[in-house]
Amino acid sequence: MTKPIVAIVGRPNVGKSTFFNRLIGERRAIIEDIPGTTRDRLYGDTFWNGREFTVVDTAGILFGDDDPTLPEAEINRRTRAQAEHAIAEADAIIFMVDGRDGLTAADAEVADILRTTAKPVVLAVNKCDSQERMLDAVEFYALNLGDPIPMSAFHGLGTGDVLDRLTEHFPPQTFDQAEERHLRVAIVGRPNVGKSSLLNRLLGQERSVVSPIPGTTRDPIDTTITYHGEPITLIDTAGIRRAGKIERGIEKYSVLRTLRAIERCDVALVLIDATEGITAQDTHIAGMVVEANKGIILVVNKWDAVVKDSHTYYEFEERVREAFKFVDYAPIVFVSALTGQRVSHLLDYAREVYAQRQKRVPTSELNTFLREAVLQQPPMAVKKGAHLRLYYAVQPQTEPPVFLFFANDGELVHWSYARYLENRLRERYGFQGTPIVIVFRSRE
Ligand code: GDP
Ligand code: GDP
Repeated sequence: MTKPIVAIVGRPNVGKSTFFNRLIGERRAIIEDIPGTTRDRLYGDTFWNGREFTVVDTAGILFGDDDPTLPEAEINRRTRAQAEHAIAEADAIIFMVDGRDGLTAADAEVADILRTTAKPVVLAVNKCDSQERMLDAVEFYALNLGDPIPMSAFHGLGTGDVLDRLTEHFPPQTFDQAEERHLRVAIVGRPNVGKSSLLNRLLGQERSVVSPIPGTTRDPIDTTITYHGEPITLIDTAGIRRAGKIERGIEKYSVLRTLRAIERCDVALVLIDATEGITAQDTHIAGMVVEANKGIILVVNKWDAVVKDSHTYYEFEERVREAFKFVDYAPIVFVSALTGQRVSHLLDYAREVYAQRQKRVPTSELNTFLREAVLQQPPMAVKKGAHLRLYYAVQPQTEPPVFLFFANDGELVHWSYARYLENRLRERYGFQGTPIVIVFRSRE
């Protein structure tokens, strides 16, 4: 099941970030506990009315921070670009305007663009901080985008109405019951790392392509192949390079497209270009995979083009390990999409990671494990001298594996102890290539 991607668009200063932070604020604290992934948040998961979705601060993704000193023409150009990007890549759009400023020419221009899409658009009139101000929203009927919903991101007023309207538009939930579950592999990476080449190589080697599903506007192009008698779907992010109104640079590498491919996969192959070395964008993409709790394999591509001596491999591997410390459980594979070297191993690794994600540790075994782990290193509390006890553990979920540890006071457990338990679990049970989730709960 895919989570819808919701883009927030609008002029600078209307309150997009404030609303965004309100939506994902609580989740954020949890994510930032994952070492190595702390950074400015531009997207995050949230839910409303039982529907989970990913919200994206489109402006931040496209342009970084808004610079208030930019000329107005440039600001307007950027706002339009946001809207176009959202139309192309998101499932639904929240168009935010400023109720105190009233209707501006720039808002009207963006509305012109948004009216061309069949995707749901919710018109949120922000900064309606009081009952009287709620009435300010009516002038935005002129935009012809349906009912303007008054809200205040700041005070949390009306935000529920905006979300009601939004989730109303989501397609009915389908649980893919008819569709048989099988391994889905996404190929992700920055432009030119060799995603298309690798995909073609994988398809070329496996002659029996069963069902090339033509790419819709929603999804990247999927191809299902048969590998050792089992179907594997390859999700390609490079495949669609739509010409269109979207600006250059944006069309080539789209964070939203990468995000969507990651959301839809079980295991992501994160490609790195050996000839260019590791870049911040590479680690950022790996961070996205970890946050989505998907399986991950680090693939060093173009290995054929590297001049090697006997140390090169180990040195490069060392560099990858160092840069990707936050996914020290990810297999690293050196390949050449060009020559095909070791490419066939990738699917074996992906199958193995998929199996690791489905592993379930029986409760009795888990509790033996817990006793031993605690004996080796007693739990650390966030407060000095606090009395902390871990009672028992269960694994209620797979894909990804989730472990619940019950304590006398779950909130007392120091985060580094989660890291300790994770390391012990990995030592004993593997879980190579998949994030695992550890949660502490208080037992009454
Ligand atoms: P963005 O540029 O669209 O992301 O806007 P920001 O979220 O950075 O907000 C711009 C300014 O508007 C900040 O000073 C916010 O505190 C303020 N702001 C955001 N939401 C509200 C609101 O509901 N009411 C009022 N009065 N101010 C708000
Ligand atoms: P994408 O943008 O990630 O889809 O990258 P492409 O598959 O289009 O590849 C970008 C460039 O790198 C092309 O010129 C490819 O021929 C080249 N390339 C891809 N894989 C390899 C490889 O394994 N070795 C070498 N030497 N070049 C490669």
